[in-house]
Amino acid sequence: MADEVQRVFVPSAVEEDGNSLALGCFSTEETAWQVLRTFLKKSDQMLLTSASVVVWDIDVVGEGGITVLSTMECKDCPVCGRRTFWMDLENFSALCHGDACAAWVEESTVEPGIIDCGWPPVRFLKQTQNIEEAFKELFKIGDQMKAISRVESIPQNQTQAMLDEFKAQNPDLE
Ligand SMILES: [Zn+2]
Repeated sequence: MADEVQRVFVPSAVEEDGNSLALGCFSTEETAWQVLRTFLKKSDQMLLTSASVVVWDIDVVGEGGITVLSTMECKDCPVCGRRTFWMDLENFSALCHGDACAAWVEESTVEPGIIDCGWPPVRFLKQTQNIEEAFKELFKIGDQMKAISRVESIPQNQTQAMLDEFKAQNPDLE
């Protein structure tokens, strides 16, 4: 076999009770991430605490054959409130994988030390001095969304109407 697989990319998730969910093993990192991201979209329907992508080198005995590419922890999203907010603690970045949300926090690539955060549905984007401030900004948006909907979770069909109302109330956001 000319194209023998040398290493495989293994995404997995861990449930609250410690049970590990295998999502398969893949020949490219890209596919592994795709599979994991798709899975994490529904993480609010499960009780997950963490997820990771690990590389396994074939035919290597012991831990030397394992490289952890990324470990993420699951939190409640500051904006939509669903448990779909995944934080990569090593190279700090966080993203909500929930439908119609995608709230995010990330260290600026141009200005190290500056923390950017955003919420794409209203093109909200803000630079802050630290992670706490970034989260405060996102919680503010979450509070405004809740005030508009007056319910904890947002039904899909109402999302657009709420976004319009939100934009009308916050003309300075755009
Ligand atoms: Zn969210």
